[in-house]
Amino acid sequence: MSSTDKYVPSAREQAFLDTVENPRYDRDSINGLAPFLEERAPDDILSFYTPDELAALRALKGTERDVEERMPVKMTRHYFDLAKNSEGLKQLVKASPDETQDLAGAEDPGFQMDYSPVEGLLHKYEMGLMYVVSTCSAHCRFCYREELISRKEIERQDGSVAKKGLAQIPDIIAYVHSHNAAVAGNGELHPDSGREKLREILLSGGDPMVLPNSKIAAWLAALAEAGIESIRIGTKELAFFPQRFDEAFFKMMDGFHATYPDVGLRLMIHFNHPDEFLLKDENGEYIEEASGILKWHPETKRAMKGLVERGWISIENQSPIIKGVNDDADALRIMQRAIKRVGANNHYFFCGRDIVAHKAFNVPIETAWQILNESQKGLSGVETHARLSITHYKGKTEVAAVTNKPIPGVPGTENGVVIFKILRNAASAPDRGKVCIVGRNPDAIWFDGYADRVIFDEAGLFDYARVEAAASKAAAAKAGA
Ligand code: SF4
Repeated sequence: MSSTDKYVPSAREQAFLDTVENPRYDRDSINGLAPFLEERAPDDILSFYTPDELAALRALKGTERDVEERMPVKMTRHYFDLAKNSEGLKQLVKASPDETQDLAGAEDPGFQMDYSPVEGLLHKYEMGLMYVVSTCSAHCRFCYREELISRKEIERQDGSVAKKGLAQIPDIIAYVHSHNAAVAGNGELHPDSGREKLREILLSGGDPMVLPNSKIAAWLAALAEAGIESIRIGTKELAFFPQRFDEAFFKMMDGFHATYPDVGLRLMIHFNHPDEFLLKDENGEYIEEASGILKWHPETKRAMKGLVERGWISIENQSPIIKGVNDDADALRIMQRAIKRVGANNHYFFCGRDIVAHKAFNVPIETAWQILNESQKGLSGVETHARLSITHYKGKTEVAAVTNKPIPGVPGTENGVVIFKILRNAASAPDRGKVCIVGRNPDAIWFDGYADRVIFDEAGLFDYARVEAAASKAAAAKAGA
């Protein structure tokens, strides 16, 4: 089956799809900087940027430092209402000339396209990640998918150059069937790639929650029919537009669960800061309920309640730690506690990736670890499940510890060490648990900051074969140009 073939739903699938309702949503979004530069934005929103900020952004228009060329600007009215009282949230959505000061970074961080057997699908571990849409209700300036959101052309491993395409149901379902049939016919692993059964798929992008219910339902049902055991939806919509989680959405999810009760559903939510869901008073302090519990925004509370009370949906928050947005132990402590209290889980915090312009956003690795560690002091065990992860091109890697004292007799440890631990090797499972120990470098924002101080590397994080191959290819292309 290829994308030219039409996907034909089964009778069970069609019966579910026939029940889905598609309300229209008005996010009251402000798109781009033009409404601000041309003073067309509503009066109350216009002052979101100061005249000096607008003058600086205007001066960059049409130059190679144009911030909108790097990443489109977008914000919902809901997020504006929260951000006007929050420095961290302003930093998250407001464009700044700082972000194009240094454009160093990777267009395809982690060499994601190496893992793309079908357009729009990344196949790692036993999991697939699909790009099902290329926008969100609002845009985070630090977005690690900026190349997809900005529709940039990316070089693939075979040397071809193209925009990242979106996943199409016929292609993906054909791939799942063919991969899993090959695995089943060969014991437990694929005869060529050595991977196990593809059993879990993440709908991502962009944010799948900007799609109509019918589109989300079509993906869920097609994946369930293909034998996928668990489906994740990655979304920041609880922060940008919680009104999207309405009765029609919940009815669709209930219909899916009634039709495919054995398929696991995981909502991978994305709160960066408690200001995205807690109410504040005029002094900027969080408001307490009579019980002493911090008060949620009513729309976010309603949406979260609707998700949590469906116990068959697991809700997992993951967030990068970003300079000026949430590099704040107190904010992260409040967020982890509040999220766990309402029945959702704290899954991962991330170090920023080496995306284009990452120096404007990334907190040094050791600082991120210290902030998270500090934030978890005083929290209960169940509130501190989140780990700090950094995405090496080989796979997800935990920043497991940062020490302050030398290890007696071990050169290079005079200022302490950083211990990385492989959580997931993107290609296969056996590397899990392997560690890499490096001497400290408080300024390092990516692995290359430790390349000259590796002490022990059973994980092979500094075996840079893929990085070096890409660098020499780029150098050869430049020499030939
Ligand atoms: S919600 Fe996620 S994909 Fe969308 S702009 Fe923010 S970081 Fe990027």
